[in-house]
Amino acid sequence: MTQGERDILVYEKSLKLRNFLEDFFQQRNYTPQYVTTLKSLVRNLQSDSYELLLVEATLLNEKFREIEIDIPKIALIMENIPRALNAVINYNIDYYLIAPFHEEDLDLKIRIARERKSWFRCLYEARKDLEAVVELTYLITSTLNPRKILYYIVKKISEMIDVTRCSILSIGLGDRRYAYVVSSFEDPSITNIRIDIRKYPEIREALKNKRPVVIQDAMQEPLMRSVQRFIAPIGIKAIAVIPIIYRDEVIGTLFLRTSRTHKGFDERELRLCNIVANIAANVLYNAFLFEKIENEKTRLQKLAITDYLTGIYNIRYFYHRLEEEFSRAQRYGYPLSCIMMDIDLFKNINDRYGHRVGDQVLREFAQLVRRHTRRSDVFARYGGEEFILLLPQTSLDGALKEAERLAQYVKRHSFKILRKERITVSMGVACWPVHPVKDSDGLITLADNALFRAKQMGRDKIVVSERPAK
Ligand code: GH3
Ligand code: MG
Ligand code: MG
Repeated sequence: MTQGERDILVYEKSLKLRNFLEDFFQQRNYTPQYVTTLKSLVRNLQSDSYELLLVEATLLNEKFREIEIDIPKIALIMENIPRALNAVINYNIDYYLIAPFHEEDLDLKIRIARERKSWFRCLYEARKDLEAVVELTYLITSTLNPRKILYYIVKKISEMIDVTRCSILSIGLGDRRYAYVVSSFEDPSITNIRIDIRKYPEIREALKNKRPVVIQDAMQEPLMRSVQRFIAPIGIKAIAVIPIIYRDEVIGTLFLRTSRTHKGFDERELRLCNIVANIAANVLYNAFLFEKIENEKTRLQKLAITDYLTGIYNIRYFYHRLEEEFSRAQRYGYPLSCIMMDIDLFKNINDRYGHRVGDQVLREFAQLVRRHTRRSDVFARYGGEEFILLLPQTSLDGALKEAERLAQYVKRHSFKILRKERITVSMGVACWPVHPVKDSDGLITLADNALFRAKQMGRDKIVVSERPAK
């Protein structure tokens, strides 16, 4: 409550006392609330927050004792002094004055009582802050996912400080034009929303100086002039940007905004934010590493099964899938087909255009065929200009049709780098159980033999494997 509001409650019944107090308060910056009954005293205590209670000593009785009052109390004693002093002691009154009252004396008592009250409040808040910090410190040593911890951090801040928006931004070490909202109390599902720092002068300022930026009134702040028309409708009043620093680099910020009008951020709130920003530094860095490792893991997994030149599966992955699909086919009696293909006279392409162009043709060929195969099929580079396609749950007939379709696509395709020249492909097809091979290697050998015959027959041909001799 700011000065001038009803911050002092007065419980009295004597006209003489009332006159003195009215005189006293008129000359000072207080607006007291007078009550004359116990009932209205209780009602006022419940509905408003006062800093202080002035009570006429004759009104101190058993009923008064039953009311819970957690603000400082000053008794005003005008008569029957021994009885009144007794009451002061019995009813836990903090201070008293004995008539005749002097204004200086009342001034002093009010000041002391108010200071004591705010001192207690500070102590209470400091304890709460300390508890929060301890709690967060425990949390960061837990095994939780760093993103979860970051969410707890913004949640805790929002509990401790009356803010409208509270988030943690991460700032990449490379491109510093953007920040990413890694955690936001308003919406726990928020991850990695990108914001353009050019639109946030307060964040830029904090990054530049590696120091907190605290703006108590955004609409009056020169730094915010360029964005005031955007923030005015949101009702943002105070803003705090606290850099999160890891090894001397700003890796993110705490970003708090309030729309409360009566005050901006106070010293206690900012101190708490600074402590939390220090705690968050390690967590944010871990979250960053965590993500990098996850991405790297996926990248490596992909790399391990990809042919570097063509971007399709490599032979290692093909064999792995072949084993799987072969045993599945045997177990459930599904057909399993395999098409081996080899680009015709590829050596000529290399000779005519050079090896580099040859590489590009291989890549384009592989991507072309892959685009026209089903997702469940496995298309891999077998080596050089040879490729292999595995077709689970596909009969010989189906595989043959697929081979014809693909051969047509290749024949009709005009390669970007080859001007008008077209290429053709020869294929050998084998299918379990039409070709009753003993193992998966047998299937490949049959497809390979069929391919060999396609070449012998003049290329640009599709040949089905013969049945193996019994
Ligand atoms: P055929 O119709 O009998 O298959 O004739 P071909 O010329 O395609 O076959 P051959 O086996 O004689 O030659 C294959 C050529 O493929 C030779 C080799 O340099 C080329 N080759 C193999 N791997 C690559 C590669 O990764 N990049 C390039 N540019 N050429 C490759
Ligand atoms: Mg070839
Ligand atoms: Mg070859």
